[in-house]
Amino acid sequence: MPVNACCQMPLAAGGPPDGVLPFDRHETAGTFFANLLNTSDFPARWYCGTWNAELGWLHIISDLGIFGAYTAIPLVIAYFILRRKDMPFPAILWLFVSFIMFCGLGHLVEAFIFWYPVYRLSGLVKALTAAISWFTVFALIRIIPKALELPRIAALNEQLTREIEERKKAQAEIAKLSLVASKSRHGVVITNAQGEIEWVNDGFSSLTGYTFEEVLGRRPGSFLQGEKTNPETVCMIAKCLSRKEPVSAEIVNYNKAGRDYWISLEVEPVFDDDGNFLQFVGTQVDITERKRINQALCRSNARFEALLKSDIVGIVVAETDGSIVSANNEFLRISGYTRGDLETTGLNWLAMTAPEYRAAAEKAIEELETEGSAKPWRNEYLQKNGNRVPVLIGTAALPEDPGMCLGLVLDMTQQQAIEHNLHEARRTAEYANEAKSNFLANMSHEIRTPLNAIMGFTELLASGQVREHEQKEHYRTILDSSQHLLTLINDILDLSKVESGHMDFDLAWCSPHTVVGEVVSVLRVRAHEKRLQLEGCWQGAIPESIHTDPLRIRQLLMNLVGNAIKFTDSGLVRILTCVERQSGTEGVIQIEVQDSGIGIAPENLERIFAPFTQADTSITRNFGGTGLGLAISKRIVEGLGGTISVQSQPGRGSVFSVRLPCGLSENDVHHTHASEAIRSRRQTELPAPGQAGPPKGSIANLAHSRLLVVDDGVTNRKLISLMLRKAGATVDCVENGQEALDAQEQTAYDVILMDMQMPVLDGYSATRELRQRGVETPVIALTAHAMRGDREKCLEAGCTDFLSKPVDRDHLCWLVAKFLEQRDTHVPGTELTEPEDDGEYQSGPGLESVRFSAGDTVVFEPVRVNCVTSLPVDEEFREIIQEFVEGLPARFTEIDAAITGQRFHLIAELAHSLKGSAAMIGFEEFSQLAARLEVAAKQRAVADLKRHCDELKLMATRLEVPACEEAGVES
Ligand code: ADP
Repeated sequence: MPVNACCQMPLAAGGPPDGVLPFDRHETAGTFFANLLNTSDFPARWYCGTWNAELGWLHIISDLGIFGAYTAIPLVIAYFILRRKDMPFPAILWLFVSFIMFCGLGHLVEAFIFWYPVYRLSGLVKALTAAISWFTVFALIRIIPKALELPRIAALNEQLTREIEERKKAQAEIAKLSLVASKSRHGVVITNAQGEIEWVNDGFSSLTGYTFEEVLGRRPGSFLQGEKTNPETVCMIAKCLSRKEPVSAEIVNYNKAGRDYWISLEVEPVFDDDGNFLQFVGTQVDITERKRINQALCRSNARFEALLKSDIVGIVVAETDGSIVSANNEFLRISGYTRGDLETTGLNWLAMTAPEYRAAAEKAIEELETEGSAKPWRNEYLQKNGNRVPVLIGTAALPEDPGMCLGLVLDMTQQQAIEHNLHEARRTAEYANEAKSNFLANMSHEIRTPLNAIMGFTELLASGQVREHEQKEHYRTILDSSQHLLTLINDILDLSKVESGHMDFDLAWCSPHTVVGEVVSVLRVRAHEKRLQLEGCWQGAIPESIHTDPLRIRQLLMNLVGNAIKFTDSGLVRILTCVERQSGTEGVIQIEVQDSGIGIAPENLERIFAPFTQADTSITRNFGGTGLGLAISKRIVEGLGGTISVQSQPGRGSVFSVRLPCGLSENDVHHTHASEAIRSRRQTELPAPGQAGPPKGSIANLAHSRLLVVDDGVTNRKLISLMLRKAGATVDCVENGQEALDAQEQTAYDVILMDMQMPVLDGYSATRELRQRGVETPVIALTAHAMRGDREKCLEAGCTDFLSKPVDRDHLCWLVAKFLEQRDTHVPGTELTEPEDDGEYQSGPGLESVRFSAGDTVVFEPVRVNCVTSLPVDEEFREIIQEFVEGLPARFTEIDAAITGQRFHLIAELAHSLKGSAAMIGFEEFSQLAARLEVAAKQRAVADLKRHCDELKLMATRLEVPACEEAGVES
């Protein structure tokens, strides 16, 4: 605005004094500010110069317009600045606001001074505006470099858009993840840095049973852990979290109900972009089931490991073609191969299988392929060294490994041995059982047969209808039968002694000739009956005497030779004896008993020495016997320190060999010919009391003797006194010891025969009493006990000698005679009379031998007595017997026809059936005969067939059918 124009304007009432130039009026700051609003000393602009109204108003309006705008703009900017605190350079903007406002204020003052000339104020405003403007200019210049660094708006815009998009995506992702986290069935927990729960999902609630509200702000460990929680794991987790490290662990947690469960815990620390820790996010997965399965798996693995290591059973994993993939030590032990063999050359169990088991093995493989397993089967492996080993194998396919199988192999060696032993033990037990049954049957037969004879003949004799010349024969039969029974009882007693280990041996000097000679002498009758030749042969030089137990050797030979005769139908029986000097006074007597009899099957050779055993019951039963003889013989031989053996061929004969050690005298002369043998027999001293009896057949004369028989049994009294009276003695009988004492006071007896067990006063007490009274009469004890101890007991009581019941007549008379002889030194008629020597002695060809022949012995006629059934009989049984007997003629017709046609098989069958039925109904003798016929038929012995058949027919006529009210002979 031109100053002069202003100066030309009329002054207002307060305008400058006239003549004063405006620039002459100096002003101090004090007057300036004091007159700041003074309008009087300057003219208003409107009046200054040549303003026309239009121009004036143009200025005024424009200034006001500018003022309005310059006020509005800073207000808007100020509003913007206040709202957008993030705007860069806000100070500049504030400078702009004040700068524009001052400009606007300047324009307002400009309009104002058209009427009110406050030039001072206007100047001040302008000055302030200029100052602010320049301040702004400087401020702008200062921030220019920084402003230049600001991104371009477009770029900013782009970045902004990008960021917005990323943020959207991230938000979507977060939304998704949040959804997943909240919906996950696993537990998700978010904790703050202190480990306090900020958030849990539903999975956590269902896993733990706690709601979000219940756990908010709590530390998970404070309520999820319990006594089963491993403290070490807890410690490890705590450490990791304190270091803000991720952690994963398996740990036991407890739910709200107190049930423990396993979780797999993963905790991740979360950091912001600047690496600041925000929170922990933990996930919990329930692994209880997996743990259980794992534990079960571990247990099962451990078991399998233990099984493998235990080496109880061989275990292999193999391919189905047999190639072994792996095997435990036990399998290697069983197969005999080493691990090296398995690993280098490889093994194949099929190849190890013994050839005869291959088929079974292949079948098992088939079964394995179809069924998935093969039941255990027996097999034998060929070991590496070629040995065989029995095994039991079972296999099962391994479904996880097609084509592979697991095999269990059990070594059966021990098992097989046990089975074998069991089998043997069972066989032995069965055999023993059978043997015992047979023994009982045989015993029954052995006892019944002589008993039948004794009873039958006694009855016959008692009836008084027997002619005189037959009586002797009957008595002899009764005697023989009694002897037989006695032998039987002795055998049983012997065996019981053997079994209880009480068999005693009495060693003495004796003549081998005598011992063998006695046996031959006794058995020749039996041999003769069977038309057999019985020989006693000596081989080499035989000493005069040997030191052994003569009684036991006699007993042994009686058994062996008795058997030889029994089991031989034709031919000969030979006793071959030799004595060897081993050294000085030690020797061995060797005796062989040979026969040409039925022989023994090889499989029976071993067992015939066992008690109650017979080689072939079907055959031997026909020959009688108890199965005790050889058992006793073996024990005798063993007791004497020797051995016994047998060689035999069925149908051709047997040889029993006995070797016994014996003592020899230094200067013994060996006698080998017959006469010396005979002499030695005759010179034998009387045996020691109770040890042996007189030579068979000697008859003692007891005339002029007075004897006392003391026995409570009437039959015994009668029998003994009869025997003694028959020998010529005068006999008194009393019933007990007391009566004997009384009788002895009345009469001076030569010998007293005292039964030991009696009522009132027994034999022991009575004898003691007699001795105490000074009676020196010989007392011969009679006792039913034949034990060695009994003899001693009797002798201790004062008895002079001892006889066991049933009493042998010869022995009794001989013993009494001996005492009478001692009494009288020599009383005529009391000496022993030697039996007639009916043997014939000669040397055999090629052998220095003595032959004892049975040739001229008196032969007893065969027994003729009715056959009575040995079983008790009732009406029904009687009818069966009757039927059997009545049916016999028809059977004989059949047998005759078969014999004529030489149909041996049929004959054997018929005879067998006859034998069986006869035995069943108690006709044992008839059954035996039928058995002989059967044997003859089997052996095709034509000549014997006819003979046995005739014998059978003859016996059939003697079979007695008992009357119905009669009982058979009681067993
Ligand atoms: P037994 O009383 O049955 O004869 P042993 O013990 O004497 O009893 O004989 C047992 C078995 O041995 C006889 O039953 C018989 O089978 C057989 N045995 C014995 N000696 C002979 C032999 N010399 N010949 C054939 N078999 C015999």
